[in-house]
Amino acid sequence: MNRLVIATGNQGKVLEIKEMLAGISVELKSLSDFDHLPEVDETGSTFAENAAIKAKAYAELTESKVLADDSGLEVPSLGGAPGIYSARFAGEGASDAENTAKLLKKLENADGNERRACFVCEMAIAEPSGKILFSANGALWGTVTRKAFGINGFGYDPIFVPDGFSQTLGQLTPEIKNKISHRSVALRQIIYFLGRL
Ligand code: IMP
Repeated sequence: MNRLVIATGNQGKVLEIKEMLAGISVELKSLSDFDHLPEVDETGSTFAENAAIKAKAYAELTESKVLADDSGLEVPSLGGAPGIYSARFAGEGASDAENTAKLLKKLENADGNERRACFVCEMAIAEPSGKILFSANGALWGTVTRKAFGINGFGYDPIFVPDGFSQTLGQLTPEIKNKISHRSVALRQIIYFLGRL
C-alpha cells in the first residue's frame, strides 16, 4: 500500500485530514510518527510556496510521499492579514485565543463588508526525490463575528460564520465543517489524485 505522510504538527488538522482520507487506500502517517525530524521553516511569501517547501523537505527527510498544507485566514479590509501569519498573528507561540482576540480588536470598528474574510488552504504532494507531484487549493468565504461562539474546531473557527450559515465554525459540527472547509475543497482534489496512483 502507498504510504502518505501528512506534514503538519497541528493535531486538529491531522484529525480533519485523516477523517476525510478515511476511505482512501493509503497508509496514513503524520510527522509525529517519525523521531528527530527537524522543523522546516515556512520561508515562503505565499501559502502555495510554504506548502511546496514543506512537502519537498519532509519528503526528502522521511523518504516517503508527503502531503503538506499551508492555510490561514485572509481579511481583505486588513490587506489580507493575518494571512500566512495566521498561526502567529499575536506573536510566536501565541494561542488560538490570543490570535482571535487580536483579530477581533483590529476589526473593532469594522462593519459590513469590512468584516468579510476567507479561509485559504494550499496543498502539495511531493515524492522522496523532492519533486512536486500535485498541488491543490480551496477557499471558504464568510464573516468575522464580534465575539467568539462555540468550542468546536480550532484557530479562528469560533469567530468565523461561513456564507450560507448563521453559526460559527466553532458551533457547527465537524461533519458540516468537513463538507465545506477550505481544506476539504483542496482535499477533494488530492483524493482524486491519490485515487489515480
Ligand atoms: P499553518 O499551520 O501554518 O497552516 O497555520 C494555520 C493557521 O491558520 C492555524 O494555526 C489557524 O490559526 C489558521 N487556520 C487554518 N485553517 C483553519 C481552520 O480550518 N479553522 C480555523 N483556523 C484555521
